[in-house]
Amino acid sequence: MKSISLKFGLIIMLVSGISLSSCNSSDELSAGITYNLVTVDNEGTTLINTVDLKTVTTGSDAITESQSDWLKFMREEEKLAHDLYIAFSEIYTVPVFKNIPRAELNHMNAVLTILTTYSIEDPASIENGVFNNADLQALYNTLLAKGKVSLVEALKVGALVEETDILDLAKVYELNPGDDLTALTEALMLGSRNHLRAFVRVLKVNGVVYAPVALSLEDYTAIVTSDWERGTGLCIGNQNAAGKKYCNRSGKGFMGGK
Ligand code: ZN
Ligand code: ZN
Repeated sequence: MKSISLKFGLIIMLVSGISLSSCNSSDELSAGITYNLVTVDNEGTTLINTVDLKTVTTGSDAITESQSDWLKFMREEEKLAHDLYIAFSEIYTVPVFKNIPRAELNHMNAVLTILTTYSIEDPASIENGVFNNADLQALYNTLLAKGKVSLVEALKVGALVEETDILDLAKVYELNPGDDLTALTEALMLGSRNHLRAFVRVLKVNGVVYAPVALSLEDYTAIVTSDWERGTGLCIGNQNAAGKKYCNRSGKGFMGGK
């Protein structure tokens, strides 16, 4: 099954020509196709190309119990972002709450792709606002109440959720991730950095200068003073165990906490 889906993904890539990023060095060209795992619009909404993610997925990571727990947590943490932004979109009409939930649903699917590859049970409820993880349930309830106060509070919740995502995603590096978890994590982190930039920009338009709550000031400043990361054309990506390259790395690696 696996090899069929890999080949199928490759055929789609070749026929459509979509998502092939242009690499300049001959080294990278000789390494074959580079998969760009993300698509970013002009407002920073970051989608993960799940067909390409499946294609670069090796299925050969030795997933430990703590890595499995981390994956399940990230699946529900992406859901927390999705469910909160959907709730806010029903109260506030700013485009950021219309666009970003679509990306968070896509991020949930990206995590599910890896959960499925490793036959790990999906913890996510199909109901909005319902979580298996008690901490995430409590956080959801708190942040929902906070964001209902005003548009500015909701935008601050958005920024905080993205800051928190970045730090929780970075925890995988303490767990010795293999290629598959690394590819997933880098794509999700790039997305969270772009979404953080998006919320901070909209806050600024609304007259508010956001101050980081979870990230160090240094990491936060480095993120928000740089432009959208598109993950294209940089080709600093890794070649994984199966000889496939993905092109996500910004080379910036903002991961630190306070
Ligand atoms: Zn996300
Ligand atoms: Zn996000």
